[in-house]
Amino acid sequence: MRIVTSVSAMQRLALQWKRRGTPIGFVPTMGYLHEGHLSLVRKARQHVGKRGVVVVSIYVNPAQFAPTEDLANYPRDLPRDKKLCRDAGVDVLFVPGDKQMYSGTGVSPVSLHPSTYVVEENLSRGMEGESRPAHFRGVTTIVAKLFHLVQPDVAVFGAKDFQQAAVVKRLVRDLNFPVKIVVAPTVRETDGLALSSRNKYLSAAEREQAMVLWQSIQLARQAVRASREAIPASRLKSELKWLIETRPAARVDYIEFLDPETLLPVARVKRGTHLALAVFVGKTRLIDNGRL
Ligand code: AMP
Repeated sequence: MRIVTSVSAMQRLALQWKRRGTPIGFVPTMGYLHEGHLSLVRKARQHVGKRGVVVVSIYVNPAQFAPTEDLANYPRDLPRDKKLCRDAGVDVLFVPGDKQMYSGTGVSPVSLHPSTYVVEENLSRGMEGESRPAHFRGVTTIVAKLFHLVQPDVAVFGAKDFQQAAVVKRLVRDLNFPVKIVVAPTVRETDGLALSSRNKYLSAAEREQAMVLWQSIQLARQAVRASREAIPASRLKSELKWLIETRPAARVDYIEFLDPETLLPVARVKRGTHLALAVFVGKTRLIDNGRL
């Protein structure tokens, strides 16, 4: 496995692969890898085959964190990530530093925020976009930069970040990136908690209570399946909020029932409606989602 830290070296490699017609699979991450990330790596490999190359990037992108968020404390373990990638058959691990990603902005010392952004203006409005203003413009900008550098034929994202995947698909469509976006299923612990680098922040008691996100999705599924008629979203929301907040460490940030294509909220919930939720468990903000 080759480790690339410079933007120019990554560009040169991608150009070589392109000239030779080597298929490029790409998995962008913020590191502190877990089985969820590795499932995306396997998916990328399936798409590009043995002849292709799989690139994983690790970059904790400052532009998608608000000043009040956990950028400085975001978990990092590069030696472990390297080993996991090597064992998973990754060809290139791209680990650019901030200077590499954000130099050339003309601001000295290096500004961690570019002066050119790529902004998706529709799907990024609600939910994560509302709770974390400027988050998605950070995501779309870094994804656009990474796509330029890696030039993937296929890029794999996780369904765990459902809204992010939808926004990225829209970015690719609107800006004609020649890349196929594949969305891979959420990998969960045996009790249903979605794997996330942020789970590391949870105390033992919080970890136990964090199960409530998955329990909420299950409860909503059961309700929809048991009901002959569509259920008013406001009623189901109150029920889920009540369930979640019986856990002493849990506080709802949002619960949304939405159309899976437009991501717009629906007034009545039925089979096929999507549920997305964000819950603080202690100080840790967890998200999850599922189709009902
Ligand atoms: P992150 O490192 O958290 O930015 O995530 C990098 C990629 O991994 C994103 O496409 C996430 O959606 C995906 N991902 C994170 N957690 C999971 C999971 N539990 N299952 C599947 N994909 C995941």
